[in-house]
Amino acid sequence: MPEEYLTLPLLDRPGFFHFFGTKALSEEQAKGVHDGRSLRLTQVHGDGIVKSDTGTENKLVGDALMTDQLGVLITVFTADCLPVIIIDPNRHAVAIVHAGWRGSLLRIVAKTVSAMARSYGSDPGSLLVGMGPRIGPCCFEVGQEVWGQVEIDPAYSAGVISRKRGDKAWVNLPHLNRIQLLNTGVKPDNIADADLCTVCHPNMFNSYRRDKVKGQNMVSGVLLEQ
Ligand SMILES: [Zn+2]
Repeated sequence: MPEEYLTLPLLDRPGFFHFFGTKALSEEQAKGVHDGRSLRLTQVHGDGIVKSDTGTENKLVGDALMTDQLGVLITVFTADCLPVIIIDPNRHAVAIVHAGWRGSLLRIVAKTVSAMARSYGSDPGSLLVGMGPRIGPCCFEVGQEVWGQVEIDPAYSAGVISRKRGDKAWVNLPHLNRIQLLNTGVKPDNIADADLCTVCHPNMFNSYRRDKVKGQNMVSGVLLEQ
């Protein structure tokens, strides 16, 4: 069995706990990492950002969660999409983002950074960002209906499309998100990438593109410890 989850050293700060689950980590196990509440979104491949306030949240619809509350685990579920965890060590706030290609083209990571700035006074230059396992440029072959939109993204630059063949192209999702983060003022050294492709590592990760099984997701989460 693979390890139940991965962490990124950049995000290992006192008072913060994060994980990117592998296929060996169930949602119930993930909730068991702490005693408090945990929040899960109904993800819709959009750019909705949900702020966790006091009170009970039942139907949370969106693709990013953020909180400054202690002891609230916020999660996203991904198979090939990119999970992004953002922590603010100065303002003690955290966010987690589900960024597939649709959410990426809607610039959901950049919008989450802006939302943290508005809600918590976060300075983008102080944020630490971790990108978890996702489909890599090795495997993310898409048609023109996708790469055509990627090419017109303002954050597009060389390297986002790694190669083209016929009407197909290979898109580098983490690179696109990295450029968007840099454009918001996040520092290059404050972005870490697990650099693991979900499709290429069947022993560790579920992959919808590889396995064609719906609902086999992996859970990632971040928590401000009490
Ligand atoms: Zn791959």
